[in-house]
Amino acid sequence: MREALSIVFIVLILVLSVGAVISRRTNKAVGRAVSRLLTSILLPVTGNLILIVSHEKLLSTAGCYIYFIGMDFFMFAMLMFAVTYSQVRIPAKVVGPVIGVLLADVVQLALNPIFGHAFSTEKIEAYGAPYYRLVPYAGQYFHRIVDYGIFLSVLIFFFIMTIRSPRIYSERYSVIFICLLLGGLWQTFYIFSRSPLDRSMIGFAVFGVLCFYFSLYYRPMKLLDRMLANIVSKLPDSVFFFDMTGRCIWANSNAKELAGITGGEFSTANDSLKGIFGSALDLSSNGWTSHLTIGSGSNEKYYALEKFLVNDEHGNAAGSFLNVRDNTAEQLRLRQEIHNATHDRLTGLYNREYLYSRISQLIASSPDCGRYVVFVDIKNFKIVNDIFSNDFGDFTLKCIAEWLRRECSDNCIYGRLGGDTFGVLVPVDEFDPAELEDELTQFVVNDGTVEYHVLIHIGVYRITEADTDVSVMFDRAHLALSMIKDEYQTHIAYYDDKIRSQVLWDQFISAQLHDALRTRELRPFLQPIVDTSGRIVGAEALARWIHPTEGFLSPAKFIPVFEKNGMIVEVDKHMWRCACEILSRWQKEGRSLFISVNISPKDFYFIDVTAEIKSLVREFGIDPSLLRIEITETVMMNNIDDKMAILNDLRHDGFIVEMDDFGSGYSSLNMLKDMPVDVLKIDMKFLSKSSDEKKARTIIQNILKLSEDLGIASLTEGVETAEQFGMLRGMSCRLFQGYHFSKPVSVSDFEGLLS
Ligand code: C2E
Ligand code: MG
Ligand code: MG
Repeated sequence: MREALSIVFIVLILVLSVGAVISRRTNKAVGRAVSRLLTSILLPVTGNLILIVSHEKLLSTAGCYIYFIGMDFFMFAMLMFAVTYSQVRIPAKVVGPVIGVLLADVVQLALNPIFGHAFSTEKIEAYGAPYYRLVPYAGQYFHRIVDYGIFLSVLIFFFIMTIRSPRIYSERYSVIFICLLLGGLWQTFYIFSRSPLDRSMIGFAVFGVLCFYFSLYYRPMKLLDRMLANIVSKLPDSVFFFDMTGRCIWANSNAKELAGITGGEFSTANDSLKGIFGSALDLSSNGWTSHLTIGSGSNEKYYALEKFLVNDEHGNAAGSFLNVRDNTAEQLRLRQEIHNATHDRLTGLYNREYLYSRISQLIASSPDCGRYVVFVDIKNFKIVNDIFSNDFGDFTLKCIAEWLRRECSDNCIYGRLGGDTFGVLVPVDEFDPAELEDELTQFVVNDGTVEYHVLIHIGVYRITEADTDVSVMFDRAHLALSMIKDEYQTHIAYYDDKIRSQVLWDQFISAQLHDALRTRELRPFLQPIVDTSGRIVGAEALARWIHPTEGFLSPAKFIPVFEKNGMIVEVDKHMWRCACEILSRWQKEGRSLFISVNISPKDFYFIDVTAEIKSLVREFGIDPSLLRIEITETVMMNNIDDKMAILNDLRHDGFIVEMDDFGSGYSSLNMLKDMPVDVLKIDMKFLSKSSDEKKARTIIQNILKLSEDLGIASLTEGVETAEQFGMLRGMSCRLFQGYHFSKPVSVSDFEGLLS
């Protein structure tokens, strides 16, 4: 019997040692506590082993010492383990005294060989061999009180944890509690029965192994189940679980709501699902995905359904589940996004990109249908915004959108091209120009407070080659607009051969501009500017192109082309440089004449005009007042503040700024008083248009008077006759330009005029 028990103890020692090493290696706080606990149990187990195997007093007494002191260490380790395992914080003022009492016990036990106050042993017979049994004295009772005190505290602690913890966790506390209780009772039995061969350490060793398992390896499966169930319950999707027979056994709350399941009546789910999604819904098979739409109109709903097979741990089919996702919000958002990407926000019509793609699709599907591409343009839309308000401008655009909706049949495609322009594709036989002209003549918008006659122009291009790019078709329809001369009488224009040849011409001269500038085929002609006595005081530089095949080209042939495509910047920079060259030469020859150069509104858009001109003047060493700057009213039509700053900057540097063609464009007399210009250039031709000469005379007189009052000098151009010269001289005009003095002539001819 003693041999069998010693083998058991040796096995326990091995198991506890291995456990101590493994738990130490986990490097977790609880791992260290477990390792300490297992190591602490090793000591009393070893002491007990010695008692069991020894047949003599000295060895047995040594076994007793190892056992008792080991028990103290065990109590300490058990307490520390309980604290770490439960993660309950125990204040230092409790731990300190406990350690103190345990140390006191160790010391008093260690003094037993001297005082003999704690215990001795007595020899008895056990299983046919001598056995040294403990005889306790006062010190031993103190030891028992200390150890039982700690033991009971830990026991009570685990008991409280067992009843206080959630059910999922109480399992691990209760097992440890029961094991510890049994170990304690077993030990108590030995103490009171005084029977030899104490086996109770087996109980504590098992306690140690359980602690090892629960701390490091145990996973509460119920907790996992609970967690999974919780997660599924909270999923935004509806989830239905089916057993092997296809019967619904569980559904999360969303699923219950969807299928109208009340309480635990899951069996109704199959029928409800078929009721919602139709009898084609296949609940018997697995591994499918399906997208279903139910309801209609504002009640339309979109669902994504997925059915999955569930296998057990051996890979055998165990059941299945159905996931139903309500995609309605996402679908609506997607639709809205697509709508936003393809439609114009203000009018709700197709935007340019989508309009083009719809039109090219339609043309590709039926290329031989006769169709027009129509470009709709609101004239002077900027003025509508300026004079009324942006709100009224928006209202006007919406009215035009409404008009298109009303007039266009299902065979048309229409949209907003941007800004104040719209585009339409219309079958030839649905396009009635007479009726359209009629409507456009009386197109009025009225928002209740303002009534405005909107001037709409329409450019039309008949599709001849279906494979032409839609943007090119609209460009052609747009080009047709330039043919409308009398803008109030005619509203519709067609892209035709004349426009085509204009486009070809544009391309022809644009391709040659660079060479023309390099070879000076394009060069300035000078038109004299005279004072009241008829003496030449300066000149205006006007561009002329002496073309090798086309001959002498006046600006009308090329300036508008280059203004349209932006190449005017190259022309102007060339002209300014040429003017500076001439001025520089004149300066050396002692002539103090000025030259006016023209600046296109586009120049301000593409380059830093101020920097360009200042650097030229610096390069040629010219007095800035000799290079006069001619701008037109259109320059001031947008970014007025920026433009004012530029002009002021130039004037500050000594340049003289002239307002060309004053009165011909969109000028406001109000603006004039703030306009940073030195000279108003008034063109006679705008006045000679008027049949009533007396009226013209009055107007010019007043403009001259006005400029005088504002302290702005004036120059009249287009002076063709001696009478005109005489009349203007009589008013306050001081400078004159016109055919009466000379046409624009080459630089050498001009210099001839001077001498
Ligand atoms: P503009 O700056 O107002 O120039 C005056 C125009 O009136 C010139 O036409 C000139 O030849 C013409 N003219 C002068 N005196 C008389 C006259 O007594 N009677 C009539 N009927 N016409 C007269 P041109 O040279 O054909 O230039 C036309 C326009 O082209 C210029 O008008 C100017 O706006 C533009 N232009 C000319 N050269 C350039 C240039 O180098 N750059 C820029 N941006 N524009 C230029
Ligand atoms: Mg000019
Ligand atoms: Mg002019």
